[in-house]
Amino acid sequence: MSELATDRDIDRSKMSVSENAAIEIINMNKWYGAFHVLRDINLTIYEGERIVVCGPSGSGKSTLIRCINRLEEHQAGSIVVDGIELTNDLKNIDKVRSEVGMVFQHFNLFPHLTILENCTLAPIWVRKVPKKEAVETAMHYLEKVKIPEQANKYPGQLSGGQQQRVAIARSLCMKPRIMLFDEPTSALDPEMIKEVLDTMIELAEEGMTMICVTHEMGFARQVANRVIFMDQGQIVEQNEPEAFFNNPQSDRTKLFLSQIL
Ligand code: ADP
Ligand code: MG
Repeated sequence: MSELATDRDIDRSKMSVSENAAIEIINMNKWYGAFHVLRDINLTIYEGERIVVCGPSGSGKSTLIRCINRLEEHQAGSIVVDGIELTNDLKNIDKVRSEVGMVFQHFNLFPHLTILENCTLAPIWVRKVPKKEAVETAMHYLEKVKIPEQANKYPGQLSGGQQQRVAIARSLCMKPRIMLFDEPTSALDPEMIKEVLDTMIELAEEGMTMICVTHEMGFARQVANRVIFMDQGQIVEQNEPEAFFNNPQSDRTKLFLSQIL
């Protein structure tokens, strides 16, 4: 078992799950050409849930979360985010993207822009927020991720952990209602993993709806309310963390857990 995500007490008081669906995926299928990458995905995620998605490499985890903000297109079934169905309608895609923030394994910051500019670019140009307000918001979130002093540096001057915290702050500047994380700590040196997980834990403590693809099982145990296991493009099993880890049902889940824990 990997070590715990944090050494502090986690405040679960605001981590309540509402009855309102944030994301509803019904009979969703996706192909890459002839390759059937996602099979009959049925998944409802309620506001306030902290979902951890795990599974072997190539099982479709990234593709699934990329479908939720239409970075990938699905071919069958439906995906509804905050009441908006994802179709070819560009207006809907824009609306969904403005509500869903995404953090990638490789940060994806703009290298030629300062940290502050990375955080204000989309609010100013996409959301049409006045520059002064965008800067104030950016500084607020940079303080939240504990690196306001780096605001005028360039991404290349920061450590990996700091860059990932900037990526989280940049997403938060768009005031998303849902955050998607795709292996946000996989590219980090071990000593930087904790600072990124701590940032994610704080978001969870504030009630953010989160879907995190991660193999940080300490984080899953402490923060997730539901763990989803994928294999070969399917959701094989899902459960509360305690039951998921202590009493996995399918052989595929057992095999996976025996390999990573
Ligand atoms: P995971 O994130 O679980 O490792 P992915 O969603 O990245 O899995 O990939 C699932 C499968 O789809 C893999 O077999 C991968 O090679 C394939 N794949 C991913 N992206 C593409 C793409 N753009 N075109 C074709 N195949 C892809
Ligand atoms: Mg992936």
